[in-house]
Amino acid sequence: MEMEKLVSLCKRRGFLFPSSDIYGGLNGFWDYGPLGVEFKRNIREAWWRDMVTAHDDLATMSGAPEPYEMTGVDCTIIMHPQVWKCSGHYDLFHDMMVDCRECKARFRADHLITSECPRKPSRHPGEFEKCHLTPPREFNLMFKTIVGAMGTEENTAFLRPETAQGIFVNFKNVCDSTRVRIPFGIAQIGKSFRNEITPRNFTFRSREFEQMEIEFFCHPSQSAQWYQYWRDRRFRWYTELGLASDRLRLREHEQDELSHYSSGTADIEYAFPFLGQGEFGELEGVAHRGDFDLRSHMEGKLIRQGDALIVEQDEDGKPRHRGSGKDLSYLDETLKERFIPHVIEPSAGADRAALAFLCEAYSEDEVPDEAGKPQQRIVMKLHPRLAPIKAAVFPLVKRDGMPEIARNIYRGLKRRFNVFYDEKGAVGRRYRRQDEVGTPICITIDSQTVADDTVTFRDRDTLKQWRVKVNDCSGELNNRLGI
Ligand code: ATP
Repeated sequence: MEMEKLVSLCKRRGFLFPSSDIYGGLNGFWDYGPLGVEFKRNIREAWWRDMVTAHDDLATMSGAPEPYEMTGVDCTIIMHPQVWKCSGHYDLFHDMMVDCRECKARFRADHLITSECPRKPSRHPGEFEKCHLTPPREFNLMFKTIVGAMGTEENTAFLRPETAQGIFVNFKNVCDSTRVRIPFGIAQIGKSFRNEITPRNFTFRSREFEQMEIEFFCHPSQSAQWYQYWRDRRFRWYTELGLASDRLRLREHEQDELSHYSSGTADIEYAFPFLGQGEFGELEGVAHRGDFDLRSHMEGKLIRQGDALIVEQDEDGKPRHRGSGKDLSYLDETLKERFIPHVIEPSAGADRAALAFLCEAYSEDEVPDEAGKPQQRIVMKLHPRLAPIKAAVFPLVKRDGMPEIARNIYRGLKRRFNVFYDEKGAVGRRYRRQDEVGTPICITIDSQTVADDTVTFRDRDTLKQWRVKVNDCSGELNNRLGI
């Protein structure tokens, strides 16, 4: 599939628009349109439901060492600046960038080999004789802002580059205000911001995006097992929602790729069509983070020394970035043991998941029109849970009482499902418009409806048609969608 086709469909049918489009857009920022907002909400809701609200706290999930609880939070985007000092983002959250003095373009140093020289797109930056690249320099990816009216440097705050820290700093609040017991997870969905040097590949690398993150707290002795569990559980989530396994892979990081605090990280990756043959892009990282995060917020910014993590000191021997001093350890009443929980972090991007689902769903085939002539059709084979519109209701013609019956069916279904009513144009065209946005079922009211109280259901993928009693429409739709 060529990306241009998907990008144009997304704009034409209202999935995605460049932000501030009438002013020429803003690089790295995207708006979700009328269909996109429903689609992305469905992704978020599927994630929240599957990970949090529908999770059975009492059962032992397949592959899990024991039952566990799930709960959630919704934290602010701007947090106390000390959060980012202790987490390491203030000192370390940077990419290396390279400028070209000749064409003034800026590149990520680690992306030179996949970037194009603006003057000579057939070459990589540095390969064209006129290129004049600077040595790599650090560039912190956090967006800065000023809190309050004073507007001085001291009031500088940051837009969060990840949602995870909101969870860590609320660990104690959650333990104190609920009855959760370890092992348990805290989930959060929300916007994150990174001043990416080169945003690109549609929404894949944006400067404002949404994350769906879980911090899972467990006893250190069980953390390796929980890491395995979450890797597999999260991988399965994508396949259950329709990502084919040959385009999806789980990749364990090599030892030299791991962060200094992590004893295991795996990326869930998808072979996006804009990448080269055999290349994959990250959808989600699942990391075993040990006790790094809770300890950092207790003691201060940590660095590795040999096998240990110690508080980094300044030239006066004081902590470089002081922690909160709050006790974030956990007392296990049954084990009679106090410990700092270990953390497994499955960290997903809602926009990257959305993009992968869209890429996977896009297909073209040929279907016969009313006269039996083959017609090219674009069909988005989205999973019914993710489809922005669940069913469309059409009266075959705008007379003989058909619109009245169709409107009643539409109103009845609307209470439970996002359904769409359309009476304009030839029915074949109406089908085509729904196929293109991934509507799984079309329901048509025709002359037979008036005679025997049945309507035609049509399946988007198989094109099969069958008749259903008017009163059974809601139940049939529910069964067919399987949601
Ligand atoms: P990358 O290496 O692609 O920059 P990352 O390893 O920095 O990603 P994480 O910090 O692990 O990403 O963030 C977790 C998830 O958040 C990613 O797997 C991705 O889905 C999403 N994400 C991160 N950066 C962006 C971005 N700039 N645009 C869209 N989604 C993003």
